Amino acid sequence: MGRQCTVCGHKDVEEINKLLLCSDSYRDIARQFGLSKDALARHKESHMPELLLKSQEVKETLQADNLLDQIVYYESEARRFKGLAESQGDLELALKAVDRALKCLDLFAKARGIISDQPQVNILVLPEWIALRTAIIQSLRPYPDALEALRDALR
Ligand SMILES: [Zn+2]
Repeated sequence: MGRQCTVCGHKDVEEINKLLLCSDSYRDIARQFGLSKDALARHKESHMPELLLKSQEVKETLQADNLLDQIVYYESEARRFKGLAESQGDLELALKAVDRALKCLDLFAKARGIISDQPQVNILVLPEWIALRTAIIQSLRPYPDALEALRDALR
């Protein structure tokens, strides 16, 4: 259907769409681009809704923000469990919690990378990661074995 539309097939279709959004005067646009008023009217009626996909993109961005919020939430939960496990002397559980927190950070970095359309995100330079890594290493200092295990895991 789109193929038969002279407006969709027009090389200046984006410009025409903009004009159609701002103006109801088919005549001027038709004359400017050598199109028929009917074609413009039909195009605006049938094909312009696709332009509203722009607002869909906004919606997806909001959902993405929500996703990041959730990852941050679970990361803080993992940290909380790490604290709990430590206070109970359960280092194995504390390490598991650390592992979860790291997964959350990894996920966060990936999600943010996808959202901001950057093909590569280096988690090692993220401030969230640096802060967490420092906190983990400090809290594991009294436990050299655990610290060593963590360093192995990170390698
Ligand atoms: Zn069209």
